[in-house]
Amino acid sequence: MTAYDPDNIFAKILRGEIPSTRVYEDDDTLAFMDIMPRADGHLLVIPKTPCRNVLDATPEQLAAVMGTVQRLGHAVLKAFDADGVTIQQFNEAAGGQEVFHLHFHVLPRQEGDRLRPPGKMGDMEEIARQAEKIRSAI
Ligand code: AMP
Repeated sequence: MTAYDPDNIFAKILRGEIPSTRVYEDDDTLAFMDIMPRADGHLLVIPKTPCRNVLDATPEQLAAVMGTVQRLGHAVLKAFDADGVTIQQFNEAAGGQEVFHLHFHVLPRQEGDRLRPPGKMGDMEEIARQAEKIRSAI
């Protein structure tokens, strides 16, 4: 498998080299809003240490990330009064991965809704408002 690239966009977010709308962090993980949200409240959870995806992650990285995914799953349920939560994760380009630092998508869902199509920039002011709701619900 290709080596981890320390200049991927999420590594730059971790180092504070590019902006992000952070909602939660602990010693091992960071959660921030997706800038092309497929649902209101769409966020990403990443480990603070390098790995491309599930295929090269250590059990410790996976455990830390999943703990934060669960915590944020509860937070988005509460913040958006959602009926469910979709958790998505892609491995390598053929598996749908575009950014090669392990990340899990957390998407609050309402009964009967449809995810918006990928690749469309969100309204950053609206995303900031949604992030504040999530922070308050943690
Ligand atoms: P994937 O690797 O297929 O899971 O897709 C990468 C995800 O990262 C997409 O949902 C993008 O909208 C999101 N994304 C890309 N760049 C940024 C960024 N700078 N800040 C937040 N989310 C991003």
